[in-house]
Amino acid sequence: MRILLFLFLLFSISLFSQQAYQKPPKLVVGIVIDQMRYEYIYRYWDKLGSNGFKRLINEGMNCRNTRYNYVPTYTGPGHASIYTGSTPMHHGIVANDWFNRQGNKMIYCTSDTSVKTIGAQNNSGKHSPRNLLATTVTDQLRLISNFNSKCIGIALKDRGAILPAGQLANAAYWFDAVSGNFVSSSYYMDSTPSWLIQFNKQELPKKYLQNTWNTLLPIEQYTESFPDANPYEGSINAGSPGVFPYDLAYLHTKAGLGIIRYTPWGNTLTTDMAKAAIKEEKMGQTSYTDFLCLSYSTPDYVGHMYGAHSVEVQDIYLRLDKELGEFFAFLEKELGKENVLVFLTADHGGAETPSLLMDKKANAGYFPYQFIKDTVNTFLSKWLGSGNWVFAYENQQVYLNREAIEQKLNTNNSLYNGLSGNKTFINNTSLDYEEINQRIVDFLLSMKGVANAYTSKEIELYNHENNLATLIKNGFYKKRSGDIIIQFEPGWMEYNQYGTTHGSEYSYDTHVPLLWWGWKTPKGKASVNKVNITDIAPTLSLILNASFPSACVGNPIEDFFK
Ligand SMILES: [Zn+2]
Repeated sequence: MRILLFLFLLFSISLFSQQAYQKPPKLVVGIVIDQMRYEYIYRYWDKLGSNGFKRLINEGMNCRNTRYNYVPTYTGPGHASIYTGSTPMHHGIVANDWFNRQGNKMIYCTSDTSVKTIGAQNNSGKHSPRNLLATTVTDQLRLISNFNSKCIGIALKDRGAILPAGQLANAAYWFDAVSGNFVSSSYYMDSTPSWLIQFNKQELPKKYLQNTWNTLLPIEQYTESFPDANPYEGSINAGSPGVFPYDLAYLHTKAGLGIIRYTPWGNTLTTDMAKAAIKEEKMGQTSYTDFLCLSYSTPDYVGHMYGAHSVEVQDIYLRLDKELGEFFAFLEKELGKENVLVFLTADHGGAETPSLLMDKKANAGYFPYQFIKDTVNTFLSKWLGSGNWVFAYENQQVYLNREAIEQKLNTNNSLYNGLSGNKTFINNTSLDYEEINQRIVDFLLSMKGVANAYTSKEIELYNHENNLATLIKNGFYKKRSGDIIIQFEPGWMEYNQYGTTHGSEYSYDTHVPLLWWGWKTPKGKASVNKVNITDIAPTLSLILNASFPSACVGNPIEDFFK
């Protein structure tokens, strides 16, 4: 009896210890697909192969209710939030570009003039993660492994490679459209790794641009999309209609190597680079977990140009699906599926093309570029006298010339009340800076297509849950954000009247796919439980036995561990 009890206890202890400690995978591959809407997998389902997206769904876990929990939904903040488990409110990447009040100029999220380009003779490498304030899950991995784990970021876009790889990364590599090389910066290394020199020597972009881009399947089978020639699309062949086939050799001569980003071979080049990094850096081959942060930028370039209903976007996804299938087979062959964990998500979605919605009589519309900046400045000029009252208008935020406005308030004894137009003079003591902000809000609310507008003060004090304004608050970082924040109505944007963009708090921009595959991922599970984009990093942290990233506000996805 005693022996039985002993065996029972031993069994319980070993069972418990298995649950308490799990050896992490040898390699984690994070795949972010730039501008991938939630619905694409399902819309194109009948045309997809069985080894790409479908393999992840059938063999892995599908989190069907994954949402962005802040605005603006752009590439920089998206990649930063996935990997920090935090929102711009804390990690500080409030947009791709924002207005910097120190120096009164725009700043790009990863620009860094203090570093040098590695891998090309130009400025394409002057980037680093220095504007990222919080640690990423990749940083945490570097820390717990005593800097033995390798963390590498790869994307055509600099920000898509740099922000995921984190502040302590071994390397981030991105595409230089001038030289056609993958480059890096002296933030990470002093010289170009020899394998990268060899990789760049192949001049793959030039080779790929000898192709003609035709549809993967016969074009009449693209019944999930609008006809190839339609009025809602731009064209990568500027001045000519955006229709198949695309003569890439001609476009190369016309537009340079950068055109590859707008073709399926932008994805191919990214996968080539990922495979080279895994092989040459021997990723996943030591007792320390390595982490490859991969981001496919091409779907965003093509999405912007052609919109969500185009044959071009559908073809990009059908080809990417095929290529991902080959990539998963590569990972399986090199390392074994049980040793690799893959997750796949998007940095944001993308809107339906407003002009298309308008033709179908749905609520949608456009604001011309600079329209809001100019009208707010005119509004203030009528009232404060002519002047440069608005420094910048970016990311649906108005950055006021605070000093000039305050100076005006202090020096003028009275101000003409142009707002009501009743020609009364109001004493400056009754008007303060906050009140001026409030009047701009009232003015903006009179515009068609504006759903709401908030002063930065209102956003700071905002404390309601489960409201779209919460997303504004989560995206607001006082030192980098504007004075007035505008929310458009659904379907409205500042953009060309063709193609599409993203950035809003609406589902078309915030609802994204999230798939997990390999290692100990639950098999064939589809969950409808709500997942915030900030939940990915803490989930990975638990898998890696690491602490959460410094400003993490998300929670681990319980379904993964059940
Ligand atoms: Zn974009």
